[in-house]
Amino acid sequence: MLNEKVAIVTGGTRGIGFEIVRTFLKNGAKVVLFGSRKESVDSAIAELKKEDTNYDVKGYYPNLVNENEIKEIFESVKNEYGHIDILVNNAGISSSTKITDFTEEEYDKISNLNIKSVFICSKVAINYLEESKGVILNTSSMVSIYGQKSGVMYPASKFAVNGITKSLALELASKGIRVNAVAPGIIETDMVKKLPKEMIEPLIKSIPLGRIGTPKDIANAFLFLASDMASYITGVVLPVDGSAKN
Ligand code: NAD
Repeated sequence: MLNEKVAIVTGGTRGIGFEIVRTFLKNGAKVVLFGSRKESVDSAIAELKKEDTNYDVKGYYPNLVNENEIKEIFESVKNEYGHIDILVNNAGISSSTKITDFTEEEYDKISNLNIKSVFICSKVAINYLEESKGVILNTSSMVSIYGQKSGVMYPASKFAVNGITKSLALELASKGIRVNAVAPGIIETDMVKKLPKEMIEPLIKSIPLGRIGTPKDIANAFLFLASDMASYITGVVLPVDGSAKN
């Protein structure tokens, strides 16, 4: 479905992002994954190469809010492959901190990674994606629709991701760039393992499809939205959540 496409995936070293990278590779894409540390980038690449030595996958660990660093990497990807077709803004951190304990430091950490990095990477990608008539995909969350009982800046950051998605879809449509988001429900990754049991267990019990989601469930939605099968879809935030309510 993505033969010869070149994709950049932030937060591609584990969890949902890793599965997006693997699914894109399986479907013929060349993938550049971003992570936060050299060790996690190297081990993700090693795991993928173990699965298939022919996978064309590389990695970087840039500061996602440093525009110059991101520009340099996009330019070297373009020089190497000739084009960039897909940007997936997936890196993110969550929170369950009560508002009364929420520090300005945590506010900045969440808004920098979950919002500012989406803004910076999308901005840098535009010239390349205009040339390729490419796609920007963002990882939102079900909490961007329903809110969340604690950790206020996490849902707030995902409301912002939806705003960026819908607004850039309008602004970039004339350049032939599609912009969509996927809003996962509760997905079995390290992020969810870190949250308190009391918060997660009742939520899983209330999911109409009767199970927690897998990274594969989410990666399949990204694959569809990245592919030409979704060529008339833009500005959408697609829930992939077993019909969960928060
Ligand atoms: P995860 O913790 O397993 O993976 C997070 C990824 O983000 C990693 O690849 C990590 O390298 C990267 N990352 C973290 N901090 C970074 C930093 N400072 N700089 C650069 N990269 C950094 O999480 P996940 O569950 O796979 O989440 C991926 C995305 O999905 C996030 O945007 C998250 O908000 C969203 N999401 C997850 C769930 C869920 O239930 N797991 C639900 C809804 C939305």
